[in-house]
Amino acid sequence: MKSQEIRATFLQYFKEKSHLIVPSSSMVTKDDPTLLFVNSGMAPFKEYFLGNGTPKNNRIADSQKCLRVSGKHNDLEEVGYDTYHHTLFEMLGNWSFGDYFKKEAIAWAWELLVDVFKIDKDILYVTVFEGSDDADNLKMDTEAFDLWKQFISEDRILKGNKKDNFWEMGEQGPCGPCSEIHVDIRSAEEKAKVDGRTLINQDHPHVVEIWNLVFMQFNRKANGSLENLPNKHIDTGMGFERLCMVLQGVQSNYDTDVFTPIIKEIETITNTKYGSNKEQDIATRVISDHVRAVAFSIADGQLPSNTGAGYVIRRILRRAVRYGFTFLDKKEPFIYRLVAVLSNKMGEAFPELKAQKHLIENVIKEEETSFLRTLDQGLVLLDGIISSAETKEISGDKVFELYDTFGFPIDLTALILSEKGYTLDEKGFEVELQKQKKRSRAASEMTTEDWTTLSDDALEEFVGYDTLETAVKLTRYRKV
Ligand code: ATP
Ligand code: MG
Ligand code: MG
Ligand code: MG
Repeated sequence: MKSQEIRATFLQYFKEKSHLIVPSSSMVTKDDPTLLFVNSGMAPFKEYFLGNGTPKNNRIADSQKCLRVSGKHNDLEEVGYDTYHHTLFEMLGNWSFGDYFKKEAIAWAWELLVDVFKIDKDILYVTVFEGSDDADNLKMDTEAFDLWKQFISEDRILKGNKKDNFWEMGEQGPCGPCSEIHVDIRSAEEKAKVDGRTLINQDHPHVVEIWNLVFMQFNRKANGSLENLPNKHIDTGMGFERLCMVLQGVQSNYDTDVFTPIIKEIETITNTKYGSNKEQDIATRVISDHVRAVAFSIADGQLPSNTGAGYVIRRILRRAVRYGFTFLDKKEPFIYRLVAVLSNKMGEAFPELKAQKHLIENVIKEEETSFLRTLDQGLVLLDGIISSAETKEISGDKVFELYDTFGFPIDLTALILSEKGYTLDEKGFEVELQKQKKRSRAASEMTTEDWTTLSDDALEEFVGYDTLETAVKLTRYRKV
């Protein structure tokens, strides 16, 4: 089954169960000061769970673009090194706002995976909350356990602790136990050697979590105590790319048709072969992942910049540029050339990609060009710093020079250093950064930090849009 069809089947299934299908919300959050980017399917619905406002329907399903590169969920370091964590990914979700609860959520999740998608039930495990003997003194979720028992043998239902099986939105607010579904796609040989149960939540590339069903039944009050919610809710999230991996019978998200067209294009452009060299493979995975995050972010109105969410995007892109430069020997811009493939592949499900293809290409190309101008020199300088270093920790002022003069984000410098067995002095870097901020504050009263510079071409692409939302977005950009 192709990825398009997998997404459509998920949505159709829940449509038939009276869910309203909604498009993904923008990945860039506009009015949530606690979050730069949507990092889970529930984020756009947060206010409904908090009792502020009413959803259009009490059953909703969607595929939400999520980005996990900062804050509570930060998977950036894993990306490319493992085969199942991405920066940007789609989270398929079904929601009940005070409507159905555990019984339906569990029965439907099972029916969809086993009867509709035809996943062999012998590769599935589920987890339920085991209870806690801390101040909350919570009982085991026997309700979920009993429901699962109808579908799966008891020895495949595992108990999990608060960390993995109790979900909380924050210090306060709705929370509750969750049940996760894991797949074991190892070979029979490997399965005979090691029991799959021992590999769950252990970062095994072929024993991975695919779906999390959250049962919101409590409210955590300001004093820390829990009370029962008057209305119980369901919040589920399934990793789309992981589901594709299972259904397409491959062992890595990068071997699904979500990624293979992008990887093929990288192979062609860089004249390399994916699967033949460990470092090049990591670089190829990183780039194919990062181009998606950057492209979707630009499509949603967040351009690379020097502050806030824009800097997160710039960091991701610069990271990708450097992987291409060092491991795929690409010294000129090329990541922008992957956008066409991406927009072909995903443009139907996410029309914003198609609509803004030229803008995305122009912005990425400009970003690549400007970083490549200093990357080479910066790397030479960094080599010099390393060879003259007396300790394994590189001082903050040296790292700052790379940041300030050569545009190396600190995490990129840290990454390059770690590849060579070095670390950096983050505190010292922070001191230098503060000093610089003070200097520039003194130098100019007026700050333009939230503005992003666009070339005329890129700006024109953007002005071509006429929705109100875009008009609002446009106020964030300025032509310089
Ligand atoms: P993991 O334990 O694998 O890091 P998680 O428990 O952090 O996943 P949840 O917050 O429960 O993930 O999100 C719901 C689902 O989204 C997961 O079951 C998984 O399939 C998917 N998912 C989570 N993080 C990522 C990621 N970085 N890339 C791709 N899919 C992800
Ligand atoms: Mg995680
Ligand atoms: Mg998990
Ligand atoms: Mg989870």
